[in-house]
Amino acid sequence: MLRDLKQDDVGKLLQADLCIVGGGMAGIALAKEFANTGHSVVLLESGGLQFDRPTQDLYQGTNVRGDFSLTTSRFRMLGGTSYVWGGWSAPLDEIDFQQREWVPHSGWPITRAELVPYYRRAQPLCELGAYRYTVPEWPSIAARALALDPNLLEHKFWQLSPQTNFGEKYLGELRQAPNITLLLNASATELVSAADARSVSAVQVAALNGRQTRVRARAYVLACGGIEIPRLMLASNRVEANGLANGNDLVGRYFMEHPHPDAGGVLLTGDVESFRPYFDRQVGKEQVVLGIGPSAGAQRRLHLLNSSIAVHGELRFEPSDAWDSLMKLSRAFDERSWPSNAGTHVMNILGDLDGVLREIYLKYRQGPIRGFSFTGRTESTPNPNNRVTLEQERDALGMPRVRLDWKPATADRLTMAKTMQLVAQEFGRLGVGRVRVNELLLQDDLRWSDNLSWFGHHMGTTRMSADAKTGVVDPNCRVHGMENLFVASSSVFPTSGYANPTLTILALALRLGDHLKANVLPVRA
Ligand SMILES: Cc1cc2nc3c(=O)[nH]c(=O)nc-3n(C[C@H](O)[C@H](O)[C@H](O)COP(=O)(O)OP(=O)(O)OC[C@H]3O[C@@H](n4cnc5c(N)ncnc54)[C@H](O)[C@@H]3O)c2cc1C
Repeated sequence: MLRDLKQDDVGKLLQADLCIVGGGMAGIALAKEFANTGHSVVLLESGGLQFDRPTQDLYQGTNVRGDFSLTTSRFRMLGGTSYVWGGWSAPLDEIDFQQREWVPHSGWPITRAELVPYYRRAQPLCELGAYRYTVPEWPSIAARALALDPNLLEHKFWQLSPQTNFGEKYLGELRQAPNITLLLNASATELVSAADARSVSAVQVAALNGRQTRVRARAYVLACGGIEIPRLMLASNRVEANGLANGNDLVGRYFMEHPHPDAGGVLLTGDVESFRPYFDRQVGKEQVVLGIGPSAGAQRRLHLLNSSIAVHGELRFEPSDAWDSLMKLSRAFDERSWPSNAGTHVMNILGDLDGVLREIYLKYRQGPIRGFSFTGRTESTPNPNNRVTLEQERDALGMPRVRLDWKPATADRLTMAKTMQLVAQEFGRLGVGRVRVNELLLQDDLRWSDNLSWFGHHMGTTRMSADAKTGVVDPNCRVHGMENLFVASSSVFPTSGYANPTLTILALALRLGDHLKANVLPVRA
């Protein structure tokens, strides 16, 4: 059933077995699990069916680093950020779940093997084919992939979803399910808790036109994204001043994103065709990306985080020193800085003007492909000081706005630099070509971190741990100390791996659905 808090008279109180806060990718995946079952579900979605500026503005806040905006890295409407997502899908690696002594705060309390059945079930939600994430499962790729030394490097694999928009794709199913009430324009503004703060007794809900209601349920799941979940918990501070379930001051801490640097590239020695598995994404009817990253053995031996590189674009010439100098100066110009060795760069350019002009010509004339550039995507170091807190300023619904204060770690940059050095070593051994490592990876943290791209992977802010002293949710995604409050989000990731997060978010949401059905909301006889 579809209702709209702005327009429909829904009454002062809605009752259900399950209340899900957030109708994005996680919330919809979970709600679908309950469609046409004996459970009544209220799915609260802050937005409507279309993008709407005043609703999106509820996401405004401060990112102290200023490198990505809190209003363009997530979307507040039915389907959530699937409105813009890229569809890159991959499970986490085995090592990502392990406690690694060289990665502080690492280790999940569940294993990859426990998630694999749910990864398989998550595939069709994103309109992906069978669950196949290793090279041997793709014979046409296996026949042409490089024979990488497994002590150093291994292949990393993504399947590409056709960027399934969950709002469009699943609206009909949610609307038709008689036991589901999808309430649009309904923002959760407070988790009302019992006097002992050990359970949620209701969710306070508001629309931008002033209408309000409450939802009372047997269980509540927060599925409103990795920044909004801690915001809602911290803002629900009527009973406990530091926010709900925040006795150990962990809610909002350990924020992680995946740094995406321009990692460099390769100029191929031989035929471009020999590199086809790495740049051609079409395999039959499916789309995939074959990347490369440090093997688990190399990560252990060299104390690296997990990481990956994948082809980004084509290179049509071998950049000369003069071209490099031109790029450095143009980047410095973009950054409104001026390098101390600018004179040397100017002399390089003037000394080879012919070469620079030829390279500009080749770049824009689309000469033959000589190689490929790479984008990196690396795990980020969990750090309790990277955190979401609340601002004094309030949004149009009276909720405190959010403040994100964080910075990527030196280990993230060094992992990416070492990954490219290993690629250079292996590509040299295999005669693939000459690798250029982007000098930004080798320089200081400030310059590196000022030149990264981000893709709305908001992780870690309600991390999972078996121990309430080191995590916000338990291995079943139940909030420690709360009887009936659960989380479905990348906010529960204790570590991030390098893989884009959504397939893991969906797998965890499906696993939570099974847990709720079996253990929390057994159907009454
Ligand atoms: C440009 C871009 C590209 C991306 N590409 C990829 C990719 O290729 N692969 C990948 O794995 N991931 C990608 N992502 C990340 C991906 O979009 C997220 O991982 C995913 O959307 C998270 O799902 P979610 O349900 O947790 O959050 P969302 O999809 O953001 O959903 C949260 C929902 O909660 C609602 N909500 C918020 N606050 C409230 C409230 N108080 N009350 C009620 N409802 C509320 C919102 O309206 C929204 O519908 C990309 C993100 C961006 C920005």
